[in-house]
Amino acid sequence: MDRVRKSYQYVTHLRKPGALRRALRLPKNPYWNFERILEMEKGFHVKSTFFFLQESKKLNLRAPREWGLSLGRYRFHDPEVARAIRMIDSAGWEVGLHGSFESFRDFARLSGEKHDLESVLGHPVAGVRQHYLNLEIPRTWQIQKQAGLSYDASLGLKAGVGYDGIPLFPFEPFQDEFVVLPLAVMDGALFSTVSDTSARLTALTRIVEQAEAKHALLAVLWHQRFLNPAEFPNENSVYESFLRLALEREPWVATSAQVADWWRTHVGGKGH
Ligand SMILES: [Zn+2]
Repeated sequence: MDRVRKSYQYVTHLRKPGALRRALRLPKNPYWNFERILEMEKGFHVKSTFFFLQESKKLNLRAPREWGLSLGRYRFHDPEVARAIRMIDSAGWEVGLHGSFESFRDFARLSGEKHDLESVLGHPVAGVRQHYLNLEIPRTWQIQKQAGLSYDASLGLKAGVGYDGIPLFPFEPFQDEFVVLPLAVMDGALFSTVSDTSARLTALTRIVEQAEAKHALLAVLWHQRFLNPAEFPNENSVYESFLRLALEREPWVATSAQVADWWRTHVGGKGH
């Protein structure tokens, strides 16, 4: 959940052909897709993890390339955001922490964000995925563990999809309860490396087949802004098609916290 409102993107993208026309036609807030995602997943009997981000990076007017980190940000305590967080949690989906851009190397920041999210949720947060998949190994995992988080879901590729260089299974970097859940597919990496819908589904099918053959963990990351048919008519359907083709093989589908728990109970510390 990088952003819940669309604001500066209009300004930076309006110069593209047809952008103004599209902007005027869009529903009021194209980055508010929670209800639609829950409904869609419910249809598949699937529940995922929503990682919420509280970015604190100050706006640097001289660095427009960084504006995306500052503008359009939200606080967990914003009333409509807090309502969405509680709604997702009480419906049985998982709410996790999406650590802000600098938090991967800043204990106080990460732990403050965890505390703020927990004060909205009313119970502990199990795990984290760092914004931009920022990860300094092993420092980030030490910081996360010290903050009381029990899993990390940030180990993945920013420019490529699949298991190339990505572990097939969860693992415990410190041989204890702290579990790392490797990430095999990020939507943006898929969209930027494979251009049309059918080739994207072929690539995803291949990864699903690999996961099935190896009995591997297949973790996927989707940004909620892509799950809006009006704004992303091509990209919007890919997540749903992915679920359909993956579920044909009858995998166990679970939230990140459930996967981490399963791993700790069944495999962790047993000399795999
Ligand atoms: Zn992010």
